Amino acid sequence: MFNHTFQDADDQQPQRAPLPDLCHKCGRCCNSATTFLPHRELLRLVAEGEKEAIDFLEIFEPFPSVEAARSVVPEQVDRVMQVIADRDDMDVNDVTFYHCRYVTEEGLCGIYERRPRCCREAPVHGWSVMPPGCGFEGWQFEQRERHQADVRKLKEMQFQMEMLSPDGIHMPTRNMTLDELRASIGGAIKPWVRFGAEQW
Ligand code: SF4
Ligand code: SF4
Repeated sequence: MFNHTFQDADDQQPQRAPLPDLCHKCGRCCNSATTFLPHRELLRLVAEGEKEAIDFLEIFEPFPSVEAARSVVPEQVDRVMQVIADRDDMDVNDVTFYHCRYVTEEGLCGIYERRPRCCREAPVHGWSVMPPGCGFEGWQFEQRERHQADVRKLKEMQFQMEMLSPDGIHMPTRNMTLDELRASIGGAIKPWVRFGAEQW
C-alpha cells in the first residue's frame, strides 16, 4: 500500500519478473517518496498497528512542507504534483513528501540488504512516477508498450469472438460464453483503466 514512489493503494504486479538492475543509485526517489494516503491517514493506521504504515514511517521522515521537498528534489516534486493535480481522487493540498533516514549523502542505500519491500519493488510498473532521468525510464517505457499491446490483443480477440458468435453463446474456440469472455477481458484490463486502457 505504501510505496517508495508515488503509486496507488492497489498497485501491484504479482507475476512480474524480478526487476533488472538499472538503478543509477542517484537517491532521488529515496528523497521524494509520497503515498496515496494523506499523512494523517498514515498516522491513524500506525495508531491502529497497521504493519505497512509502521514500516513506512520507520524509514521515511516527512518534509515539513512541499517547498522543503522541492528544494531537494525539484523535478520529482513537480512531476508528482502534476500527476496528482490531474486526478480527481487526490488533493494537492494533502500531499506529503518524505525522505529516507537511510539514504547516504552519495545517494546510496544505507540498509540495502534489509531495505523494505516498497524499495525492492519500485518502480512497480511503467506508470510509477519516477524522477526524470531515472535508470528505469527505458524499462518503464517497455512495460507501458507491453501492457498496451496486451490490452489491444485482448480487444481484438473479443471483437473476433463477437463476429464469430453473434448469439454470444456458441463460442467456436473457447469453452465460455461471450459474457464470460468479456468479464475475463474486463478483469485483465481493469488494473490499467486509470492509465487509459479503455482507449487503447
Ligand atoms: S530515481 Fe531511479 S536511478 Fe535514482 S535511485 Fe531511484 S530507482 Fe535508482
Ligand atoms: S531504505 Fe534504502 S532504498 Fe529504501 S528509500 Fe531508504 S535508502 Fe532508498
